[in-house]
Amino acid sequence: MYSSLMFITPRPELVMVEGDGSWVTDDRGRRYLDFVQGWAVNCLGHAPAAIADAVAIQARKLINVGPAFYNEPMLCLADLLVANSGFDKVFFANSGAEANEGAIKLARKWGAVHRGGAYEIVTFDNAFHGRTLATMSASGKAQWQHLFEPKVLGFPKVPLNDIAAVERAIGTETVAVMLEPIQGEAGVIPASTTFLRELRCLTRERGILLIVDEVQTGMGRTGRLFAHEHAGIAPDIMTLGKGLGGGVPISALLALEEVCCFETGDQGGTFNGNPLTTAAAVAVMRMLLQPGFLEEVARRGEELQAALSALARRHGPDVSLGVRGCGLLQALVLGGPIAPGIVRLAFDRGLLLNAPRSDILRFMPALNVTTEEIRLMVDVLEEILDGVGKSKTDSAECRI
Ligand SMILES: *Cc1c(COP(=O)(O)O)cnc(C)c1O
Repeated sequence: MYSSLMFITPRPELVMVEGDGSWVTDDRGRRYLDFVQGWAVNCLGHAPAAIADAVAIQARKLINVGPAFYNEPMLCLADLLVANSGFDKVFFANSGAEANEGAIKLARKWGAVHRGGAYEIVTFDNAFHGRTLATMSASGKAQWQHLFEPKVLGFPKVPLNDIAAVERAIGTETVAVMLEPIQGEAGVIPASTTFLRELRCLTRERGILLIVDEVQTGMGRTGRLFAHEHAGIAPDIMTLGKGLGGGVPISALLALEEVCCFETGDQGGTFNGNPLTTAAAVAVMRMLLQPGFLEEVARRGEELQAALSALARRHGPDVSLGVRGCGLLQALVLGGPIAPGIVRLAFDRGLLLNAPRSDILRFMPALNVTTEEIRLMVDVLEEILDGVGKSKTDSAECRI
């Protein structure tokens, strides 16, 4: 089926046609409760009126005028981001990987101008920064180690939450340290608050930059606008993507004034900062900034975590080991490589879940998910885990 598409991943034999909030419907009229939301991009759920209206109105007005001109939504979005973060300047791009490429280029340029040509960026084991050649090289995904060789040089890797290892990795060629406040694709592994603070002190001491990749953790995902706020640190550079456009492809690179050193021609992009996608992101920002919105996200996050923890306790350690995460980015750690099987069983029951690793289930619902939808998701998962526990006692090998 659908043989004209280049293969990149196996897909179920159906077509998704429409969505509404936490629900998405396929071409047979089957409805799915969506706790993946296009990989955490639909922060306001499927087809939210705020984004649909913003895009429709903008599309009738001005879709693209090129990056060589200012446009209204571009300026509005930049002001909103600067006013609500600790950063001074914004550069827009179209994907998380592209924003991270921009961050890497900015750090390297800053190194060339201010640090005698230093260019190395210390990154972390299991990190995920995107799928371009440079961001793959910055990522610490074991399966990618020998893919698309040769890699881009200059990304020494260290273990997360190990400040001594970072210290050892910093040399005369180092220009920055780059990390996700919570490693998402690795299975929702948080950088500790202590580690983030130590990292901020260490990078200041050594006169190098701290870059936070908030493509997954930003835009309210953790109950704060940006996840680094939980640790009370002020990074030099931040990248945003995923939730920024609420499903519309847009990303951003933010930086402190003193770091901004691009000169004419260094950086750009045909679609970057276009009025259509920046208008969508303005709608998202306005929603997230409404009084009480982020508090509700934090509350839903606590409900999700509590419900998953209770579920983990009810099932033995061979099924589930525990829960980790922050806000509406949570993971259930399983007792074995049973996550892909659970995702398949959940799909059959009309629930979309994600397994970033074979022993991890990740939950990243819309930020406006309801208490009832969380309860419904946990009920379905409970039934599945009951079955898994039973099949484990029935036979030595788990059958899912
Ligand atoms: C998803 C993700 C990216 C890549 O974003 P794309 O839009 O897929 O290029 C980069 N960093 C993190 C932390 C991500 O979660």
